[in-house]
Formats: sequence, C-alpha cells, structure tokens
Amino acid sequence: MKKALILFGLILGFAQAQAQFDKWFEPSTLRVDYVHAGNQQEAWFAFDEVLKEPFWGGSKTRLTDDFGYGNYRLEVFDLNSDSLIYSRGYSSLFGEWQTTLEAKAMSRSFNETVVMPFPKDRVRLVLSARGSDGIFERQFELVIDPKSYFIGPGQRLGYTVSDIEINALPEQAVDIVILPDGYTAAELEKFQADCIAFSNKLFLFAPFAENRTKFNIRAVMAPSAESGADIPAESIWKNTLLSSSFYTFDSERYCMTYDHKSVRDLAGNAPYDQIYILQNTTKYGGGGIFNFYSLSSSSNKLSAEIIVHEFGHSFAGLGDEYFDSSTSYNDFYNPAVEPWEPNLTSLVDFDNKWKHLIGEEIPVPTPPDSAFYNKTGVFEGGGYVAKGIYRPSYDCLMHTFKGHTFCAACSEAIVKMINFYAE
Ligand SMILES: [Zn+2]
Repeated sequence: MKKALILFGLILGFAQAQAQFDKWFEPSTLRVDYVHAGNQQEAWFAFDEVLKEPFWGGSKTRLTDDFGYGNYRLEVFDLNSDSLIYSRGYSSLFGEWQTTLEAKAMSRSFNETVVMPFPKDRVRLVLSARGSDGIFERQFELVIDPKSYFIGPGQRLGYTVSDIEINALPEQAVDIVILPDGYTAAELEKFQADCIAFSNKLFLFAPFAENRTKFNIRAVMAPSAESGADIPAESIWKNTLLSSSFYTFDSERYCMTYDHKSVRDLAGNAPYDQIYILQNTTKYGGGGIFNFYSLSSSSNKLSAEIIVHEFGHSFAGLGDEYFDSSTSYNDFYNPAVEPWEPNLTSLVDFDNKWKHLIGEEIPVPTPPDSAFYNKTGVFEGGGYVAKGIYRPSYDCLMHTFKGHTFCAACSEAIVKMINFYAE
C-alpha cells in the first residue's frame, strides 16, 4: 500500500510539473541571440535578435535548474506574476577567452545564444554572470512579447535529419544533435557512418553505457563546400558550414567555431538538449563547453576518448582535471573561491562536493602515492594549475586518456545530469 501511495504521489508530481509547462509554454523553442563583448576587466551583453524554432527537445518537468553550474545563468520570469518559470546555467567561449593573454590587451566580441521553451505570454529574460567571488550578478534584461511580429523564423539552414538512435520521447531523454562540419555532399554517407561510430564510442564508457536507453541521437545532414577543417598555423583554410578551426586561442588541439549563429541555425532542425559538432578530420582535437556545444575530430585514433571527454564538459559541467601548461588560460580558477564544476575543489566548500564518496581512511589532501591511485580522494592539481585546485582521483577521463574510466565524482555528476533530462 505504501509503495502504491508513493507511486501515486510520483505520478501526481509529474502531472503537476507537466501542467506547469503547458501553463507557461508551447513545445517549440524561443531563441535569443546576443553579442557578448569585452576584455579581461569588463564584459557587456548587446541584443541581436529573437527567433522561433519549431522543436523543443528539453524536459517538460524540470523547468528550473538547481545544479548551479556554469559561468552564466539564464532566468525567465513570467512578466505578470514575476514567477521564475525557466532557468539554466551555461558557459561560453567568450568566458574562456577572457582568461587568455589576448583579453588583457584588447576587447573582442562573440555571438552567443540562449534557448528556452516558447512562452505563451510576455516574459522577462535575465542573464547573469559570475563575479570574481563566484557569485552571480545580473548583467542583462530583456522583455519579450511572444506575439511580437519581430520574432523571426528559425531554421535558416534547413536540412533533413537522420535518426541515429532513438530510445524515448524528446522530453524524457537526453537528445544529442550531431552537426557535421567539413563534410562535402559526397561525404554525407561517411558522416552518417561517423555518427553511428560516435554513438558506439560514447556508450563504450560508463556511466553512459548503462544509461544508453535514456539517450536519443539525431544527425543533421548538412554538407560543406569543402572537406576538412581550418588549420591556421599551416595556412590551411577550408570553406565549411560551421567554420570550425584548430588553434582556437592559439592552442593547436583546441578546435572550435566562433560562428555560434550557424551552430544554432543548424541544430534547430531537430529537438535537442546538447549540440555535438563532428569535424571531418583525422587531426587530434576538439573542445566542449557546458550547455554550449562540444566538438571533436571524427576520425582520430583517440576519437572515442575525445568524444566522451568533451561531452563530459558540455553535458555534465565537468572541469579539466589536468594541470600541465598546454592551454592558453591564465588564472582560470581562483583558489580562494570554490569552483562550480562538480569534479574540482579549492577546499573552500568541499563538504558540498564529493566528500561523501571518500573513505574515512583516505587523507585530505590525498598524497600522490601509489597506495591511493585507485581510490577516491582529494589530489592536488587540476583545472590547469598544479597548486590550490584539487581533483577526485589520481586519474580520470577528464585528466588523461590512459585509464578509460571516469572517477567516482565525475560518474556521479554524469548520472545526476542524465536523470535531470530523462526522468
Ligand atoms: Zn573525474
């Protein structure tokens, strides 16, 4: 009887949450494009345009985000009641660029977008950014009337969509949309095969493997004029649909695109939660930013590890656990502030991180001693610095590709995020 009551309670809760969605939203997407500009000292947001896209791939029951991840936060309030009706955390390429040396010397602008289910009535959109103390500060507000005739149609890049793997309804699954870059029309068959390989590679790794039925994967069949990627340091420039390029921030393996509008235009062909760009290249590289997008090379011998590592960033908000000097970032983390990433700590607020996963016999911090190599602990070095930032395990897929497993803290964070989308 008790079990039946609990089940009844769960079903009632679900129905109420779905009713909230239907009260505020219709199942299509409102997309707001803006320019994010600035330098290391300051940043500002400037409105670009609002679009309506045909699908909504997100949850209809988890409308507000309680993870607290990301360097930025989108909040949507119903204008009449001032109720918070939707929120999501995210990060961006601009936010990373702000920590490079270039941002000390000049200002630069980046296109960014946020998406939300399409509101039935007027809403107030608020964008906030974390200050140096890690606390969110309001930066930008916009009132949107969904009936405005200035809301343009999305899908400016309309292409057919191929179902790679469909397991559940979009609102009850993690929906990944794969976008091709650098595949010519004659190579779209290879793209389709690369997407099937992508799917098989992602689900090689726990905890994705055992949660495979909570994912849908679709591919947008969009050709580029030329094959391959830009490699500026070798004077290789290709005319591709998304203009992805190695040497982003002058780091050879960092392959990203600044053309965020085209990324969203292409993604809007399918319902999606996460965008993954496959770059048609054998060269080692990629990148992933939380709730922004991931990119990886399609045909490198380490593609499986790159795919799952970058998806760890963009999907679960995982930070890099390595601390060599191979990136272009400076002071990416402030050791006096607890990082928001679930797998990094400055020990400022470790109680709210993976403390519950550590055995009583494990010293904190944990020495880099072989006795602890396969244990969950608190190892110094992570987030691109050797001192003051700590990681959960001696090795992890967010650190090197040697071990082929995620540490306990990363695994837990991934499972929580899967359930956020799929439950
Ligand atoms: Zn980890």
